[in-house]
Amino acid sequence: MRFDILTIFPDFFQSIFQHGVVKRAQANGLVTITAHDLRAFTHDRHRTVDDRPFGGGEGMVLKAEPIAEALVSLGAQPKQSRTRESVVLLSAQGAPFTQAVARELARLERVVLICGRYEGVDERVNTLFCDRELSIGDYVLSGGELGAAVMVDATMRLLPGVLGNEASSEYESFGQADAALTRDEGCIPCSTHGAGGLLDYPHYTRPAEFQGMTVPEVLAGGNHDEIRRWRREQALEKTLRNRPDLLEKATLSDDDREYLERLRRD
Ligand code: SAH
Repeated sequence: MRFDILTIFPDFFQSIFQHGVVKRAQANGLVTITAHDLRAFTHDRHRTVDDRPFGGGEGMVLKAEPIAEALVSLGAQPKQSRTRESVVLLSAQGAPFTQAVARELARLERVVLICGRYEGVDERVNTLFCDRELSIGDYVLSGGELGAAVMVDATMRLLPGVLGNEASSEYESFGQADAALTRDEGCIPCSTHGAGGLLDYPHYTRPAEFQGMTVPEVLAGGNHDEIRRWRREQALEKTLRNRPDLLEKATLSDDDREYLERLRRD
């Protein structure tokens, strides 16, 4: 899969993709990530990428022409005929970027990410060239670069072969709503943790005792059914506490519902 990032700060990405899973995915040829300098698509002496807003007001706005030219040079398909690629505008006004959106993007051959700066990007870029306007959260950043890095990271780790265990992203927070994921994988009780749209359960590693706190007893025993049940209950508890909104869409069993009732009562 290929990611092309349009930005006025290409150096921003120099080290951010040089770690861990993203670095390995690139080395293994599973992912190509290129940051393109929008100033390379200007023609004036000052390499101007921004201008004052029509109608007056604060700040500057990124111009449409360099972005249009960059898209042509990348061989982006016309908006109406795109099937295997998507052009995304990073924007605080965008629809939320979620794990479900990451899954949709991961099915494509290429994603082009347009990073705004200043007050934003000339809206005609959005209208004429972009398939999606996406936000990484309800706050305003100073540029789209951090958002683009978030989208690349979350999307590429869903590609087959990127994570060691093919299925592992299914078992994480926001895992797909699939109640059938109740099985052991390589003798590890994967359970339904994370799957079904819940948050992940808490994790522990050695030492068994740390600052007077021991790890939950059930994890030290080898009973997979008990571990599975405990993890599921912890996931339900954490989701109820931190993100009760997710429970409305989660895939829940009768046992899950009973457990949640008990939690709400206590
Ligand atoms: N005037 C805009 C904010 C501009 S911030 C507004 O009030 O909505 C400058 C750029 O940062 C934006 O063009 C966008 O590319 C990026 N940006 C800011 N917040 C973002 C967010 N939550 N998600 C994704 N990109 C964001």
